[in-house]
Amino acid sequence: RIAYVNGRYVPHRDAMVHVEDRGYQFADGVYEVCEVHEGRLVDETRHLDRLDRSLRELRIASPMGRAQLTTVMRETVARNRVRNGLVYVQVTRGVARRDHPFPDPAPRPALVVTAKWTDRSGLDKLAARGIGVITVPENRWARPDIKSIGLLPNVLVKQQAREAGAREAWYVDRDGMVTEGGSSNAWIVTTDGRIVTRRADNAILKGVTRAGVIDLLGRRNLQLEERAFTVAEAKAASEAFITSASNLVVPVVTIDGEKVGDGTPGPVALSLRAGLHEVTEMSRPV
Ligand code: PLP
Repeated sequence: RIAYVNGRYVPHRDAMVHVEDRGYQFADGVYEVCEVHEGRLVDETRHLDRLDRSLRELRIASPMGRAQLTTVMRETVARNRVRNGLVYVQVTRGVARRDHPFPDPAPRPALVVTAKWTDRSGLDKLAARGIGVITVPENRWARPDIKSIGLLPNVLVKQQAREAGAREAWYVDRDGMVTEGGSSNAWIVTTDGRIVTRRADNAILKGVTRAGVIDLLGRRNLQLEERAFTVAEAKAASEAFITSASNLVVPVVTIDGEKVGDGTPGPVALSLRAGLHEVTEMSRPV
């Protein structure tokens, strides 16, 4: 495997960053995970737009122009011969002597790009079975809309989910409303067929896959409700599902061990999964 690290393509085992990289010391950085489907980058524009926004919010300079970054992403995919998988992009504020405020003058932002294959058939099997989620108190900072590499709260709830025999954890805010998953957006389908996901405010990451599903709903004339829902409403829903670039659409069949609907993957979730790539932007083949 080959990784791109600060201007060079290097063997993955030699892909190193400096101990004084602010990402390493302060989680002072942001990232993107973009799906690669049949050798094409999926929704590259939305990912790059979101990366720009995350960088702007944290006042980190862009490591390079957009066209150049696109080239690096494609080149990393090509060098790893990835047909179906993910490309990972991380930008940190750079390397500087350890001190909390922004270094002055600003160092060159550090850029790392990696690409990997995913087990497509494994993922499809997972989706066909459906997953369990647990619910956990929202304990992240107030800006989950920034795709920050500061993921310790996510790490902890994903581990908690695993130990509970579940695959995802849904954060629940102080008003009892689901915000999102540890690494995905949260959705339900009400018993009268309305499809509900939280409005993309500062409380959640505005998922690229979420946007793709919204496009697909529009195309199919299915009704979307962008609003928060409670855990009780989700448990009583006819379906639930999650979305993320790494898993696309995955049905949720239990919440805190209680069945959603009849406890099997719902038809709406499965059909959105099947249709997602019809509406997503695909780059030219890399
Ligand atoms: N919410 C969180 C906290 C995430 O980490 C992710 C993706 O990793 C998502 C939502 C889904 O976003 P996307 O569809 O852009 O992958």
